[in-house]
Amino acid sequence: MKTLHGIIIIGAGPIGLYFASKCEEKKLDYLVLEGSDSIGGQLTRLYPEKQIVDIPGIESIKSADYIELLKDKIDLEKVVLDAHVSSIKNGGEIEISTGKVVYFCKKLIIATGLGTSVPRPLGVEHENECDNIIYSVKSFSHLKGKKVAIFGGGDSALDWAKEISAISDDVHLIHRRLEFRGNPETIKDCKNLKVHLPYVPISITYENGKATSVTIKKVDTEELLTIEVDYIFVNYGNIASLSSFPFKMENAFLVVDSDNKVEQNIFAIGDVCQYQNKTRRIAPGLKEADKVFDLITC
Ligand SMILES: Cc1cc2nc3c(=O)[nH]c(=O)nc-3n(C[C@H](O)[C@H](O)[C@H](O)COP(=O)(O)OP(=O)(O)OC[C@H]3O[C@@H](n4cnc5c(N)ncnc54)[C@H](O)[C@@H]3O)c2cc1C
Repeated sequence: MKTLHGIIIIGAGPIGLYFASKCEEKKLDYLVLEGSDSIGGQLTRLYPEKQIVDIPGIESIKSADYIELLKDKIDLEKVVLDAHVSSIKNGGEIEISTGKVVYFCKKLIIATGLGTSVPRPLGVEHENECDNIIYSVKSFSHLKGKKVAIFGGGDSALDWAKEISAISDDVHLIHRRLEFRGNPETIKDCKNLKVHLPYVPISITYENGKATSVTIKKVDTEELLTIEVDYIFVNYGNIASLSSFPFKMENAFLVVDSDNKVEQNIFAIGDVCQYQNKTRRIAPGLKEADKVFDLITC
């Protein structure tokens, strides 16, 4: 039997969950479709133990606890796991298919974050053969006292440099530019952290499936430096793909079809939605969720 839902939210990351909590509060008819087998998006998958300090109204909270807080505000029976949406059609009613099940709704919220994505590699030979070259950490206690080379210049790299240099005194942060893309204030009190700017990775040495050192080159002088490592932690972000949805999501939270016509009942919020000066952080996504919620309920 066909069920027409009021609102379907694709993605149970922090932004999709926040939107769902607003629907729950107002007793709206909603359903959340999550492609993976767990709730929480990047926070659960990539950094459950990290403290988040930039969510409006919350001083500091562990990522996993923030997701728990959001989970408490929704009806978990309305979250379908392992429901990866592969196609969306809008013909008045919106038809959403996972390949196995077809769902129908009046309003659709796309909160798929980075979508299906893979980490951007370091880009050196033999990278794939080393299991101590990592791209995310669920728990970082095993990095205590280890020699860690962190690559990247965004907020994630800086956040990790701060966290890991607090538990190890042999941590290097390497970035290809003179200035960080992320907020340099994050690492200003990190006494154990050795910062290398502007350097790029050149090669690794490895033994028994483990990188043992990484050689970096100074961009301006071409000077080489070899750093011994227990772990190389690459923070170059993800190569994102917005699944196969036939929409562009570059114009704030409005979604346009292939003829650049604004979709009336489909909205994009969170990391999936990109526009000029938008940062991929939780706060802008929450703001988009608030705006879209007001728009569809006014
Ligand atoms: C290491 C790291 C540290 C960070 N630290 C901070 C921080 O301190 N503060 C901060 O504000 N931000 C931080 N961020 C950024 C923050 O995690 C993102 O901005 C946030 O996760 C975006 O939430 P989202 O719900 O839009 O997307 P996501 O968290 O990516 O969630 C999207 C969800 O949609 C699901 N999905 C994707 N495609 C489909 C599909 N086709 N069908 C069904 N489900 C689908 C995914 O499985 C996922 O669960 C950090 C990011 C990283 C990587």
